[in-house]
Amino acid sequence: PLVLGIETSCDETGIGIVRGRTLLSNTIASSMDEHARFGGVVPEVAARAHLEALQPAIEAALAESGVALADLDAVAVTSGPGLAGALMVGVGAAKALAVALGTPLYAVNHLVGHIAADLLDADAEPLEYPTVALLVSGGHTSLLLVRDLTSDVELLGETVDDAAGEAFDKVARILGLPYPGGPEIDRAAASGDPRAIRFPRGLSRASDMDRHRYDFSFSGLKTAVARWIEHQEAAGEPVPVADVAASFREAVVDVLVTKALDACVRHGVPRLLLGGGVIANRRLREVALERADAAGVAVRIPPLSLCTDNGSMIAALAAELIRAGRQPSTLAFGADSTLPVTEIQVAAGSEP
Ligand code: ATP
Ligand code: MG
Ligand code: FE
Repeated sequence: PLVLGIETSCDETGIGIVRGRTLLSNTIASSMDEHARFGGVVPEVAARAHLEALQPAIEAALAESGVALADLDAVAVTSGPGLAGALMVGVGAAKALAVALGTPLYAVNHLVGHIAADLLDADAEPLEYPTVALLVSGGHTSLLLVRDLTSDVELLGETVDDAAGEAFDKVARILGLPYPGGPEIDRAAASGDPRAIRFPRGLSRASDMDRHRYDFSFSGLKTAVARWIEHQEAAGEPVPVADVAASFREAVVDVLVTKALDACVRHGVPRLLLGGGVIANRRLREVALERADAAGVAVRIPPLSLCTDNGSMIAALAAELIRAGRQPSTLAFGADSTLPVTEIQVAAGSEP
């Protein structure tokens, strides 16, 4: 099926057009620059930016793919999770478009969309089940067990405070580096020693394993970095930015990879899929590939343009739902900022 997907859960206005598992266009307008002076995404600013960017982004996607609105078989949209005001803009636009065109509408889960992004990787073998998925971005840090993309996604664990990308952004700020902090810390860390400072690995003690084996915590790490720098300054010592960046990055990467591979081993799943904007981190890719290889786990990393928020992954998920025979969503849904990952599609119509 020919599907247009709309994604507005955070700061990217993403419009994607797919034909089944074939990507036809992936148009992204980001309001990231507008958030830079605040050091993080400002919800109200993001919502307004979506409103301005949507129409031109849809036109650009249609032009790029050579598709006419009348050709579409379905419209897909992110219902949640994400920023409520931002989501609402996409949901409103998708409903209007579907009603005007008389096409079916599929309202889907953003996190499951990140997994569906993998389907659009033309160079990869088809995704096999079950697979463990680690999604790391500015808003999410989730470990999932995917038995079937369209019907069975289980949340193994998630962050109990800051998301991994958020931690990069906050620590960059502490170090006086610009927003977004991820790429900046990656760059600064390149010349640093990852073993210079031993920063804490959140929720990794033996006593955490009962309740929080697959959960993450990064706010203690952020505080530890801040304390370490304060201490250094109070002692009149210079702050070794490269070493702090490298040691912080190592702590984040270590805990992400350790928990993801632990999930693979304990669930007997020899496959790990990575997604989300933090996957751009060079050290994360390196450590994940190295340790997974040693553990006999195959790692999948879709191209970065599909790992960050985009509309194509939303369209791809809807195309899979259609392929699986699911009925479209009714119009009885809205933006759900805390949509659980088990709700792959919302307001699904009853089977015929
Ligand atoms: P969502 O959480 O809804 O998926 P988002 O916009 O917060 O959306 P992305 O756009 O996927 O997330 O990713 C942005 C985040 O990724 C930022 O926090 C940024 O600092 C981080 N990031 C980008 N590049 C790197 C990198 N090389 N290393 C670490 N973090 C990175
Ligand atoms: Mg973003
Ligand atoms: Fe996302």
